[in-house]
Amino acid sequence: MTDSDGMANTMPDNNTGPDDDTAWRAVLSRNRDYDGHFVTGVLSTGIYCRPSCAARHPRRENVRFFATPSQAREEGLRPCLRCHPDDVSRDEAALAEAVRMLALDEAITVEQVAGHVGYSPAHFQRLFKRALGLTPAAYARARRMERVQNALQETHKVTEAIYDAGYGSASRFYEASEARLGMTPSAWKHGGRGVAIHWAVVPTSMGAMLVAATGKGVCRLSFDESVEALAERFPHADLIEGGEDFAALLRQVIDAVERPGDARGIPLDVAGTAFQEAIWRELQRIPAGETRSYAQLATAVGKPKAMRAAGSANGANCVAVLIPCHRVVRTDGTIGGYAYGTDIKRELLRREGVTTEHGDTPDLFADRTPRTSQTKE
Ligand SMILES: [Zn+2]
Repeated sequence: MTDSDGMANTMPDNNTGPDDDTAWRAVLSRNRDYDGHFVTGVLSTGIYCRPSCAARHPRRENVRFFATPSQAREEGLRPCLRCHPDDVSRDEAALAEAVRMLALDEAITVEQVAGHVGYSPAHFQRLFKRALGLTPAAYARARRMERVQNALQETHKVTEAIYDAGYGSASRFYEASEARLGMTPSAWKHGGRGVAIHWAVVPTSMGAMLVAATGKGVCRLSFDESVEALAERFPHADLIEGGEDFAALLRQVIDAVERPGDARGIPLDVAGTAFQEAIWRELQRIPAGETRSYAQLATAVGKPKAMRAAGSANGANCVAVLIPCHRVVRTDGTIGGYAYGTDIKRELLRREGVTTEHGDTPDLFADRTPRTSQTKE
């Protein structure tokens, strides 16, 4: 796991909370993603709530938003007994500690982690699953896999790496390694100087798809994009159309796109900030048929308040489908943004068995980042 502090200097944290319109929309949609970002003070009842409180909505004119519970208390408001708004920060601290513990020691049990952070195992399981989108056990499995991956890069003694990572037997590792992650950045330094990049534009059921790869792995997968755009992205690389080794990889990629869920094991050559790469790894952990919210992604990398940064990192993903950024949807079940259009996103999700609602509300954390040479259109 890389350090995720890369975004700290560029993304302001949410000490001030969202603007009032955004906050009110979050309240109306009972958006859990905003829990911990502000509280809703109801002046008529003297109570303050989480944004997601299940109680009947107050009238807008009776509502005042506060960035923190203590600010609401200073105004004489009391915490709601239904949604316990003061517990949010405790939950966040517990989750951050749990993520840290699971990353350090994958052999630790759920009961141990829950006990350490002061929750019952059942409550902790629910809290964890809701916040991260997967169970503590699944999370621990993903971490173990990553540790193997890192160990393998440092030693040729495969068996030792397997035992170092805490697998009881080699066969269990080989089963698990079907799902391994692979990021080996090479093309991204200095615009690809000295790197040969093979590319092709191929027709797919989703339209024209551009695939580009270095000797290390796929560095670009996009829809409806020209080779000129690829050249802008890697201005100093040697761009070569087709190629024999590339053709084999290309077939794998086309299979993965036409049969989503088979993308695992295809090597990638991508690079981003530490925070972006952490988000991309989390995306790779989302199984086909499941989705996550930006808040869940942010929580999974230990930055529960960095939803916007998580949205930006999602949008900065350069290899569509293989890093499945299409599996991030809005908390309210609507589909959210996608760099290649919501039709392609909806189709990719539909094939994976996920139905999305046809919401047309604006995406609060649209998958768009400012145009730079390393982000999508
Ligand atoms: Zn409440």
